Amino acid sequence: MSESARPLGTALDPSGVLAIKVDVDTEIGLRDGAPRLLELFERLGVRASWYVTMGPDRTGLSALRVFRQRGFLGKMVRSRATRIYPWRTMLRGTLLPPVQIAAGHPGRLREIAAAGHELGVHGWDHVRWHDHLARMSEDEVAGEVGRAKELFEALVGRAPEGFAAPGWQCTGRSLWAVDAAGFRYRSDTRGWFPYRPQADGYASSIPEIPTTLPTLDEVLGAGHGRGSVVEISAAYLREIRDGALNVHTIHTEIEGGEFLGHFEDLLRRLRDRLAVATLGEVAASLPQVAELPLCAVVPGRLPGRGGTVATQVRP
Ligand SMILES: [Zn+2]
Repeated sequence: MSESARPLGTALDPSGVLAIKVDVDTEIGLRDGAPRLLELFERLGVRASWYVTMGPDRTGLSALRVFRQRGFLGKMVRSRATRIYPWRTMLRGTLLPPVQIAAGHPGRLREIAAAGHELGVHGWDHVRWHDHLARMSEDEVAGEVGRAKELFEALVGRAPEGFAAPGWQCTGRSLWAVDAAGFRYRSDTRGWFPYRPQADGYASSIPEIPTTLPTLDEVLGAGHGRGSVVEISAAYLREIRDGALNVHTIHTEIEGGEFLGHFEDLLRRLRDRLAVATLGEVAASLPQVAELPLCAVVPGRLPGRGGTVATQVRP
């Protein structure tokens, strides 16, 4: 590594902790975005937690939805969405046949792990989970989780520890299915601090480590500045909580694409201010799940994002 990382410290580091959660939603994100982020992390001496959508890329369906809803990417969507999601990605599952994300690039998964990053699961079919989770039966949800875990084991050679719900969609059935599949922790929701999640009368048996910071598309969608590098970084620095755990979710399709320069500027500033840890390391530092605060998970709305996301209710 050309620049040394700050000492890791612990999740209780008094200066505060930053965890970078990298969601891989699409085939092109794993193929083209992931190598750019790997190079950046290597250069800055940062280890991140990656969650890969293991099954088919049917992003075309959701990309078309993006154009119909106002929240996602806000004002940028008309002029710039095709620069984030190339036309081939936008047509996946509509005019072009779906391609397999993880199975199409098994070497990339091993490359991410070999670089010292944490690697976990971001569901099987991102679009199906995002759009239909609320109506899925127990068997259907268990099928999504089980297929993803099985393929992960086949490609990576060990069981995944972390599960991150596609699109921050979460129900009592999905809490149960991820618990039953043997994951050690989850990152399904938006919230403030690690907790024991409960939905539809079911309390999870593993901890939830929520995303605490807004995503880049939310920051832009909420109209913070005109989106210059300096303005974006300033918007994030105002959100950072010193002395606490800060979890920032990025996407291989966005920060690993057109917004790589924005992300590098932000990461340099955050790295100088906070100790960096993986979500797995945070999970390992937590007390027993029964000792964590029990918090309900409900659908909530966020500035700059269309639709609802699973949100932690503070006790
Ligand atoms: Zn995702």
